Amino acid sequence: MTTVTRFLLDESRIPTTWYNLAADLPTPVPPLLHPKTYAPIQPSDLEHLFAPEIIRQEMSLERHIPIPDAVRDVYRLWRPSPLMRAHRLEQALGTTARIYYKYEGASPSGSHKPNSAIPQAWYNKQAGIRKLATETGAGQWGASLAFAGQLFGLEVMIYQVRVSYDQKPYRRALMETYGATCVASPSSGTEIGRSVLSRTPDHPGSLGIAISEAVETVLASPDTRYALGSVMNHVLLHQTVIGQEALQQMEMAGDDPDIIIGCAGGGSNFAGIAFPFIGQQMRGGRSRRYIAVEPAACPTLTQGRYAYDFGDTAGITPLAKMHTLGSSFTPPGLHAGGLRYHGMAPMVSHLVELGLIQPQAVQQIPCFSAGQLFARCEGILPAPESNHAIAAAIQEALRCKRDGTRDVILFNLSGHGHFDMTAYQSYMTDKLVDLSHDEHALNEALSALPVAG
Ligand SMILES: *Cc1c(COP(=O)(O)O)cnc(C)c1O
Repeated sequence: MTTVTRFLLDESRIPTTWYNLAADLPTPVPPLLHPKTYAPIQPSDLEHLFAPEIIRQEMSLERHIPIPDAVRDVYRLWRPSPLMRAHRLEQALGTTARIYYKYEGASPSGSHKPNSAIPQAWYNKQAGIRKLATETGAGQWGASLAFAGQLFGLEVMIYQVRVSYDQKPYRRALMETYGATCVASPSSGTEIGRSVLSRTPDHPGSLGIAISEAVETVLASPDTRYALGSVMNHVLLHQTVIGQEALQQMEMAGDDPDIIIGCAGGGSNFAGIAFPFIGQQMRGGRSRRYIAVEPAACPTLTQGRYAYDFGDTAGITPLAKMHTLGSSFTPPGLHAGGLRYHGMAPMVSHLVELGLIQPQAVQQIPCFSAGQLFARCEGILPAPESNHAIAAAIQEALRCKRDGTRDVILFNLSGHGHFDMTAYQSYMTDKLVDLSHDEHALNEALSALPVAG
């Protein structure tokens, strides 16, 4: 057995195209609907929100979409990202499984998010846009877009969910270091923010509200476009560099994953690692298990309804058919802020409906305990979001130990947790509690779903 630990590719092996799973799906993903007419969205309906190339990618059925050279050149700053064999974690668990992880925390902002921030900023620059507005939860997406905007000379305005803005002050400092403007959401700068604050002055915010504020800002300014960090098809597409590299690296390792795991907030890092493998399977390759892991306190895939819903709280974005907790639902303030979203990528939801992906929900204390064990074995301190993937990987490895099976497990380590030390401190001083959502509020949000499609 090999003792190799890092499987590295040189820059020439950065993928030259993104992989579009839409080309290989047995049945198409239901289309986005117009927020007012509920008719299927036309490209022209999205023109005031996104650059033309992004709209084309959102609706594309082409299997391979070229990555512009300017984007690949920036990817060289951290791509190809390493694939690692978790030898020491395997030993600590005494498992018969082999565990690999793809490490996306090696990017400049510390997560997989720049994989999409860079091309989004590039296409907007190409289209003559001057400014981008966006939302961020934990600040990972905001920091990534701030960096991307700086590289291509675009102004970036970020609405950060209030609870994260307060919990993670250093992430805001990072966004500002990269040159972006960051305000807490709900804010008094938008009509939507003011209306939330007038009802609930101490509202903790949510990604749904922050998206509404960013979209309101975009609709009011013709030289500004919107950028979303997850959920939409084009974002998932950009993230497929992860899985395409992992395919090459697993081959270098002489292993083939039986189980592929990612945490799921909006679904983009999970899709990034899983879709290139699922695509192989759709085209007649071997079948594997794919596990999407979400927080028990924000259980979109495991307890949400598969229905048309708005992407934001105010109901100004297009409707998507997805697993949703209801766009009026405010998830509790868990530490994995990047997983605190009421909806899920329509493509990931569709695959769950087709039975191709297994969703799983995990509480935050077992997640931090998994993350701490991982840090003690492998040295990398994972983001609270990534801990969800680690918890599931460990659970599968322990199952292998009981059964004596030798499964190969691959998970995506979506980011590092260096800005999340307050959460780790709470965990280590027993101040962290497992949160559950308010069942009554969830039922109310679900009964308020728009009836469409
Ligand atoms: C944003 C984020 C996530 C969740 O978003 P997805 O779109 O589901 O990938 C997970 N991990 C990290 C580190 C993040 O920053």
